[in-house]
Amino acid sequence: KGDPRLQAISNAIRVVPHFPKQGIMFQDITTLLLDHKAFKHTVDIFVDRYKDMDISVVAGVEARGFMFGPSIALAIGAKFVPLRKPKKLPGEVIAEAYELEYGRDCLEMHVGAVEAGERAIVIDDLVATGGTLSAAIRLLERVGAQVVECGCVIGLREVKGQLRLNGKPLYILVEPR
Ligand code: AMP
Repeated sequence: KGDPRLQAISNAIRVVPHFPKQGIMFQDITTLLLDHKAFKHTVDIFVDRYKDMDISVVAGVEARGFMFGPSIALAIGAKFVPLRKPKKLPGEVIAEAYELEYGRDCLEMHVGAVEAGERAIVIDDLVATGGTLSAAIRLLERVGAQVVECGCVIGLREVKGQLRLNGKPLYILVEPR
């Protein structure tokens, strides 16, 4: 990974210690969005990777998967499917719960958004334990889609999401700063 764009991406991510609570090193991608070059590099790297993989679905995890997923979807000619927190989607949904450090949360997807046999990628800003991404994978697999890969801008090396990614490949651009 000698791609100089990765250093620019890493440099554009702001680390905010103790947010939202003591001990968390929050990786803030809003500063990446402010840096046009680094933001474009981020989208370009995902687009280059996925453009020839016959992907018809880009599923984005609320909320920061929404900031990268649609640009990738448009560029590779795929649909964008939002995976949302409970009670946000107005139509009929399916839901998958996942464990958090404290308690549980849930992701929902509209029924009919994805058809059986479609090839999907899941996009989020960061993978830590992989709990969020594994809920996303389960939603897509329940409707018969094939999850080709999960793509994240940032991956924590020490936690390695792979274990809880249901055997799905994980593609990460940079490690936390
Ligand atoms: P996990 O389900 O443990 O893989 O956590 C990933 C989700 O939590 C992603 O949606 C991230 O946006 C968020 N998240 C977890 N840890 C951090 C962190 N240190 N900085 C920013 N976001 C985080």
